[in-house]
Amino acid sequence: MTDTVQIEIHQIEKSRIDAVDFDNLVFGRSFADHMLVVDYKDGAWQTPQIVPYGPISYTPAMMSLHYGQAIFEGMKAYKNAEGEILVFRPHDNWARLNKSAVRMCMPEIPEDIFMEGLSALLKLDSAWIPAKPGCSMYIRPFMFSTDEYVGVTPSKTYKFMIFNCPVGAYYSKPLRVKVETQYIRAAHGGVGFSKNAGNYGGSLYPTQLAAQEGYDQIIWTDAATHQYVEEAGTMNLLFVVDNKLVTAPTGDTILDGVTRKSVLQIARDWGMEVEERQLSVAELVEGIKAGKVQEAFGAGTAAVIAPISTIGFEGQDYELPERPADAFSKRVYEEINSIRLGVKEDSRGWVYKV
Ligand SMILES: *Cc1c(COP(=O)(O)O)cnc(C)c1O
Repeated sequence: MTDTVQIEIHQIEKSRIDAVDFDNLVFGRSFADHMLVVDYKDGAWQTPQIVPYGPISYTPAMMSLHYGQAIFEGMKAYKNAEGEILVFRPHDNWARLNKSAVRMCMPEIPEDIFMEGLSALLKLDSAWIPAKPGCSMYIRPFMFSTDEYVGVTPSKTYKFMIFNCPVGAYYSKPLRVKVETQYIRAAHGGVGFSKNAGNYGGSLYPTQLAAQEGYDQIIWTDAATHQYVEEAGTMNLLFVVDNKLVTAPTGDTILDGVTRKSVLQIARDWGMEVEERQLSVAELVEGIKAGKVQEAFGAGTAAVIAPISTIGFEGQDYELPERPADAFSKRVYEEINSIRLGVKEDSRGWVYKV
């Protein structure tokens, strides 16, 4: 992409990088030197700025604090063996952010501002992108309303920002998950497909209750009947049943995950049968009992694949079998990981080189 967007850069005087212990990175706790800030006012996006990462100040009446116009994205950048910066499918995140924006009555962000702002930021803070195996730079683009006004109506001003967190190898021990049959994450006609802040606020309490019962995460079921599985916490949910990959179809209650669709694409390319269909809790439980459900896992940017060991339903725990060395979820993890690191050829055009 040729540079067409003018970006104002105010560089930090002295980098904070020496204060960071790259051998002990905790997810989401370290922040690279700079952040991108783009203001929206008078019906237009203003000149993007890159400034030192730090606090921003607002009035107590800032609308997003009250009425929830706040959306975000999550993606990752890596360094390949040549030290080049690679980002995994960032255009998909850009497109999804705009889908969320439309649903939340917020302005869409132009592709060139998103991509060129991201590229400039990553180049400037390139030293912060960990090159060690398993490590990466977690990228957090987000947008929120900024009008100072107490009234339920779309704001006229917004801020789009990106900051970056160097993160360590993400190891997910096999999860114990509970099928949720009282609380819901998303209903038809609602905002479940959008990555807006309120969805996560609403998930905390039921997740806390599940944690008190000894579970790591919730399996969300459909709001109308609680009979069909939808997602696992903040990840998409996939199963291998009778050697077929089964997952709920995306619709307005399910987040269209970039990891999910990458997993489905790879499975199809490998000749595996893929079923995007409703899967009932009853079918799942019977399938586990009969030994038909071979694997269960969550899929999302942070962990890529998070294997599930135990599914709790109505007070009963159902154990998934141990994953063999050639389990689909292990092979697909390796495939995605080696593509995003630039180790394996990117035949699908998923890797964006900064
Ligand atoms: C972000 C998210 C996912 C995963 O999406 P990825 O693009 O794969 O990171 C799945 N479900 C929910 C609810 C999410 O917020």
